[in-house]
Amino acid sequence: MIRISSPDSMRPEREYVYRLVFDVFLGVDYRVDYSPMNTQVQIRCDSIALVFPDIFFQSQEKTWLTDQYLAIVDPSADLKTPVWSEVESICGLFLNEQNDSMRNYAISEEGEKWRFTFDLFGSIFFLISRYEEHVDKSRDNHQRYRFESSILATHGLVSRPLVNEYVLFLRETLERVLPTASFKSHRFTQCVTCDVDFLRYPAVSGKFEKILYFLVQTIHGSGLKKSLKGLLSYLKALVGGYRFDLFNKFTEIASRARETNSTVIFYLMSGVKQVSQDGDYRLRNLIDTEILQTIKKYNVEVGMHGGYQSFENGDLLVEEKETLERFFFPNSENKLTASRQHYLRWTPGITAETLEFAELKYDSTLGFAEHVGFRSSCCYEYPVYSLTKRRELSLIERPLMVMDVTLLNPRYMGLASAEDAVREATKVKDQVMKYGGTFTILWHNSSLCTELEKETFLKITETGAD
Ligand SMILES: [Zn+2]
Repeated sequence: MIRISSPDSMRPEREYVYRLVFDVFLGVDYRVDYSPMNTQVQIRCDSIALVFPDIFFQSQEKTWLTDQYLAIVDPSADLKTPVWSEVESICGLFLNEQNDSMRNYAISEEGEKWRFTFDLFGSIFFLISRYEEHVDKSRDNHQRYRFESSILATHGLVSRPLVNEYVLFLRETLERVLPTASFKSHRFTQCVTCDVDFLRYPAVSGKFEKILYFLVQTIHGSGLKKSLKGLLSYLKALVGGYRFDLFNKFTEIASRARETNSTVIFYLMSGVKQVSQDGDYRLRNLIDTEILQTIKKYNVEVGMHGGYQSFENGDLLVEEKETLERFFFPNSENKLTASRQHYLRWTPGITAETLEFAELKYDSTLGFAEHVGFRSSCCYEYPVYSLTKRRELSLIERPLMVMDVTLLNPRYMGLASAEDAVREATKVKDQVMKYGGTFTILWHNSSLCTELEKETFLKITETGAD
């Protein structure tokens, strides 16, 4: 049993972060004694007490959800760890400024007191709750928080699962002072997911728009030869059927997942055609395609891909979910549990709460469209905390780490070779493997048309679970 004494303020947030760290991630029994007399967090072990400064929660008590945190956050701090730690260095976001001599170290062993020089629990809460996204309201043209606004971008931290680093460092420290304690083990897994935005090549809605697409491509885009080639394959599928369609890649994705011992989820839309951003199919169109056979043959999990406008609209999300359930489970009470929002649209304080309202259990939207890596600095799934409701939601986040268009689209990272794209994705995957997390990637069925796309997909997914 881990015994923690804690300050009493910001109680819901503290309860959440202790449960997250000790129960969800470390899997140990723990008890917390809260008291207004406590000014720091202490873990009392046999003969040693671990002491943590209490900076973030204390400072935010009167300035909750404002940008006042900017005055105390220091993402540039690079603290040395002891030789017994596998964590190379600690980026302590909230530092104990009083202890100047220890400013470059993550922990100082002072007899019976081992003092952490950074606010471990506050840093975990700040990152995993996406506090900065809630406070900074600037958005891109899809109302998404911009990667460039994040301290993860400005301080080059997006490729580090900082939360996992903190948790491993805490675990290593506990192992030294409580040698008999045993902790949960985490094993690496890979999850290949496919958002079905477009069923038929090319990626625009309607037959007329598709023809127009080829014309525009010829004049402004890829040139006559490439455009003609595209038009021919479109006509081939029109005449010969869906098996010739360039976007019919469902078997390839599902069989790749099976080959690499990965789990696989197809996220399907039922709210298409509400706005122009909403894909090119209705559910009944699926009947003539190979998606349904692939789902059955490979035991693919079906998830919901909420339409463009559903990220802030609970009633719409419920309607879309029920439409999908009627289609996929016509004679049973089965419910969909997994979800990802179209365009990765996510409004803090609204989207997660909306997903919970629709009784969805898992979300996998939280990755940056502009850059691969760890948007919530974590490679384990975790329960989502609502900063507005001030409670843990029943929704579990399965963080998204790599998306095809993030790597290859010129609007985002725009990497021109498979080698570069694989290198960037592998940097992230190596971290997930180190911490035994789940490497979740999103590969659209519309992103396996070129050699670059195919090679990148195959190489990134090469190593699955043992
Ligand atoms: Zn989508």
